Amino acid sequence: MASALTDKLSRLVKNLSGQARITESNVTDMLREVRMALLEADVALPVVRDFIARVKDKALGQEVIGSLKPGQALVGIVNKELAATMGQGVSDINLAVQPPAVILMAGLQGAGKTTTTAKLAKHLIEKRKKKVLTVSGDVYRPAAIEQLKTVTAQAGAEWFPSSADQKPIDIARAAIDYARKHHFDVLLVDTAGRLAIDEALMAEIKALHAELKPVETLFVVDAMQGQDAANTARAFGDALPLTGIVLTKLDGDSRGGAALSVRQITGVPIKFAGTSEKIDGLEVFDAERHAGRVLGMGDIVALVEQVTAGVDIEAAQKLAAKVKSGGGFDLNDFLAQIQQMKQMGGLSSLMDKLPSQLTAKAGAMDMGKVEKDIGRKQGIIHSMTPQERKKPELIKATRKRRIAAGAGVQVQDVNRMLKEFEQMQDMMKKMSGGGMMKMMKRMGA
Ligand code: GDP
Repeated sequence: MASALTDKLSRLVKNLSGQARITESNVTDMLREVRMALLEADVALPVVRDFIARVKDKALGQEVIGSLKPGQALVGIVNKELAATMGQGVSDINLAVQPPAVILMAGLQGAGKTTTTAKLAKHLIEKRKKKVLTVSGDVYRPAAIEQLKTVTAQAGAEWFPSSADQKPIDIARAAIDYARKHHFDVLLVDTAGRLAIDEALMAEIKALHAELKPVETLFVVDAMQGQDAANTARAFGDALPLTGIVLTKLDGDSRGGAALSVRQITGVPIKFAGTSEKIDGLEVFDAERHAGRVLGMGDIVALVEQVTAGVDIEAAQKLAAKVKSGGGFDLNDFLAQIQQMKQMGGLSSLMDKLPSQLTAKAGAMDMGKVEKDIGRKQGIIHSMTPQERKKPELIKATRKRRIAAGAGVQVQDVNRMLKEFEQMQDMMKKMSGGGMMKMMKRMGA
């Protein structure tokens, strides 16, 4: 998701990390990049403008200018502002009314209203222990009524029958009556889909709203709609007093920008996220988590801090000088590098902070195993004599067997470690022309 935004913002961090100070003019430059990134992630233009204005205000304040780590400071502001724009914390369905609490579902055809109605029914039954009734007001598509019947049964809720020859408003009245008489806690009302904003259908759902007086009017919107989601949200938000949003198909290849747009335009919280076609594919929307995850940015700020904290600059400079002066890179240096990796707070905790896209790629990697592997390498080097560490070329078959026995590993493990050492030695030689310091700089040191 949001690969463009991820790439851009990651590049931004890198560029900024190299700068000592931030001035008003380079804040403007950087914000231009953030603006492009948001547009590429399909956030609607007016929403982007607003967002940038807010970030600029903060960035030009004390928070960035004069900051020791301006790059992180700016990205921190962007991240915080993203979370704030998407709403803070979580908000579940409001049921604080005399039962039955009516929930009206609104949105375009295909947005996922019927599916979400059933998912919500299941959620309310299982998580909130409620007795739930569903009804469809879609008198234009008999198949939609049947679809709701099927998925309602899957959810374990009760379905109230309706048919194509009825008026939606009569269906609504009958369903409420039934819900009252049979002591239902919640009545979920699925409505007719519309392919595009249509005056007649808008009038119909307004009338339904007036009749039902729902405690929740949820706007269901497909996250894959990108820019169009903003226009749909505006139309529905103008017609109905919305109380929440359900963002569906977040499991798909959406660019995430829709979340920002619909939240900002309607001003109501995103309450749920649809994460699969299945009946249990519904999550309570957690704005803070999604600000980073949905936009694929990950907790870059924390990541940058963790990485730079773990790097011992002085040791790295010494090592660079040693390699440059022809001092070579031996197993002692290799050991120091391994130890440094461990100091960075554990690889698995680093992984948690990476953008979701990257972790998806690394998903197959077992971080516990990787950490164990680092420990094994340390053990192997500790089993060597000081002389062997300085001159690894001394390590032949007999010595290998002794080292393996000492470290409690196989000879192949010793071979593998020596091979890795040679590769790193090679890389160090290539970088000895000052490349290493450049690399350290890029890491924000
Ligand atoms: P409606 O016309 O608004 O009632 O939309 P439907 O509920 O019929 O959903 C349209 C299509 O989107 C169906 O194929 C659903 O299975 C699918 N769908 C709905 N929500 C999600 C979701 O969160 N993730 C995925 N992958 N598909 C969804």
